Amino acid sequence: MTSSSEPSSTRDSRYDILFEPVAIGPVTAKNRFYQVPHATGTGCAMPNTRAGIRAVKAEGGWAVVCTGYCSIHPTSDDRHYPFSSLWNDADVRAQAIMVDAVHAHGALAGVELWHGGGVVANKVTREAPLSPSGIGEPVWITHPVQPRTMDRSDIARLLSWQRDAAKRARSAGFDIVYVYAGMGYLPLQFLLSRYNKRTDSYGGTFENRARLLREMIEITREAVGGDCAVAVRLTAEENMGVRGFRGEVEGEALLDLIGDLPDLWDVKLGFSDDGVTSRFAEEAYHEPFIRYVKAKTGKPVVGVGRFTSPDTMVRQVREGILDLIGAARPSIADPFLPRKIEEGRIDEIRECIGCNVCVATYAEGVPIRCTQNPTMGEEWRRGWHPEKIPARGSDDSVLVVGSGPAGLECARALGQRGYRVTLAEAGRDLGGRVLRESRLPGLAAWSRVSAWRLGRLETMRHVEIYRESRLAADDVVEFGAARVVLATGARWMAGLPESPDGGEPEVTVEVMTPDDVMDGRTPSGAVLVLDLDPYYMGGVIAEKLARDGHRVSLATSAPVVSPWTSYTGEQHGIMVRLLECGIDVVTAHRLVAIDDRGAELASVYGGQTRNLACDTLIVVGARAPVDELERALAGRPDDVEAAGITDIRSIGDLHAPGAIVHAVASGHRYARELDVGDPVVRVEPGVGTYVTASN
Ligand code: ADP
Ligand code: SF4
Repeated sequence: MTSSSEPSSTRDSRYDILFEPVAIGPVTAKNRFYQVPHATGTGCAMPNTRAGIRAVKAEGGWAVVCTGYCSIHPTSDDRHYPFSSLWNDADVRAQAIMVDAVHAHGALAGVELWHGGGVVANKVTREAPLSPSGIGEPVWITHPVQPRTMDRSDIARLLSWQRDAAKRARSAGFDIVYVYAGMGYLPLQFLLSRYNKRTDSYGGTFENRARLLREMIEITREAVGGDCAVAVRLTAEENMGVRGFRGEVEGEALLDLIGDLPDLWDVKLGFSDDGVTSRFAEEAYHEPFIRYVKAKTGKPVVGVGRFTSPDTMVRQVREGILDLIGAARPSIADPFLPRKIEEGRIDEIRECIGCNVCVATYAEGVPIRCTQNPTMGEEWRRGWHPEKIPARGSDDSVLVVGSGPAGLECARALGQRGYRVTLAEAGRDLGGRVLRESRLPGLAAWSRVSAWRLGRLETMRHVEIYRESRLAADDVVEFGAARVVLATGARWMAGLPESPDGGEPEVTVEVMTPDDVMDGRTPSGAVLVLDLDPYYMGGVIAEKLARDGHRVSLATSAPVVSPWTSYTGEQHGIMVRLLECGIDVVTAHRLVAIDDRGAELASVYGGQTRNLACDTLIVVGARAPVDELERALAGRPDDVEAAGITDIRSIGDLHAPGAIVHAVASGHRYARELDVGDPVVRVEPGVGTYVTASN
């Protein structure tokens, strides 16, 4: 199946195995790096944006680059989620843009043909969802509709839709065409008796339940006529005990039945276990669940596991777990990961931090973005490339104040452009909030944001870094750089929101903020974390304090803890973890008052009250920009001008407090746009709702 390619002169020979070609049916992957299907928030409405995203990955050395889940028919319409489609000739033309862009860099293009069955709500097409037996996923969460039970003519039509879409895929130029039997979608629903209660030849026995998948593989192969490989993407384990895939289907039995029917097995886990964040799972966490697959098939197997370490990749291949190193997130964080390994540039790999901001963009139905890679999603729109950046537009020197994610990325990208940069940081350590937050439970991988940037900065002789250098306005003026970038960040505020009747609740106990906790201050007595923030901080602070031995409760006026983390797929896990830590969690309650008897909370629904012990109140609320320096400089325009400073700009959390992804993007954008005049922002033709304005 494989043979060695010539190693590059600089490649570490330990990694040669990763650069062996792999035959996948009638096509050959030039190496083992395989970008598995993942959504990009683009779909056929943004074909150029999509092509830009996929093209940089092909350029970065991925042998196979797949597009995201691709609907075969309007009965599989997942809006508001951004799926792609191959419903008609217009879709073929839109897909071909991506295929051509991928081929231009010598990679194979794959398409994950998909029918969502009873999981989708068909909100735009208004078709009835289809299912084996009328049992849906809880679609009612987003739409109150149940799927209809497919009759034999529906099954025949489904097979014809798969055939027609496969033909369209071939005419768009795809090399690998999928049947998608994962994530609760239609062929998997037929496999599982919790969805499939049929009594005809598509239900009952395991062989019958596997019939649809077998027929979809066969009809796909017939349609592509030997030009394309046929892949199956399979949820190989659902971690649901006897009710899940392995409990009742027995993955081994399925592979015994049809293990050699497709040309490739692409294996993953179920909805809740597949793309887990670093807070809840390590690199290669799929391994114990999918390792049975390869023993049961002679066909190549691709799987994922947030791989960023080439040693882990090599081990997986050598141990016979995978043939192809699958990646979604690592390819988003660093589209050039394969080339960096191939060229012996391991230190340059921008490792995914496992935060799932990319996943959240999918869940929110918008184009993809990434915390580590600010160019992701901007390849076509703004012409940003993950590795290349225009040379500097002037000889101006730049002073960057503050070394959080915004300041570090700004200094790094300016340095990459060739500007003379000075980075000043008040503290001894560099990294700002990233460094501080990475010491909280489960967030260690976030330090990769600063570690990668520091690694790059260390190679730049024209960038000087000053630690323990808190700058005042005088220092900035005296320094005399032509450009000044303020990246002094934001700090959590101790203030409470107004109560509905006006004014703040009365508080007579000690009040602390997350920054106090991160600074090492210890709360006394019983702790109440008042979580007014939608993201992760409230839960993480509560978890830390509980682990440190404090008695902790967490109260939020939201209906669930950390509601925004439902987009990153973490909300359930966060709640489980808080309960495991013995934290008393109170949702949908607002604080009324705190005194020496404890905290009084009122239900947001009816005002019913309850009391919690509270000697220290930790407010996780809003953040205030650290803007003393900004305001001081704004108050001295004459001095600034006399010093030859032509421009002072605020970036990152100082400009607008947000998540780390926003800070990195802000720093990058400043650096990218310095001295370029009016930056170009392209608009997809006919896509009126896509926001294109510069901020
Ligand atoms: P962002 O997320 O916007 O990058 P952070 O809060 O992570 O912001 O980082 C801001 C950094 O700026 C911190 O490391 C802080 O120590 C530093 N800082 C704040 N004020 C000054 C100052 N006057 N001089 C130098 N560094 C500063
Ligand atoms: Fe990784 Fe986060 Fe980027 Fe997604 S957004 S690829 S999880 S760093």
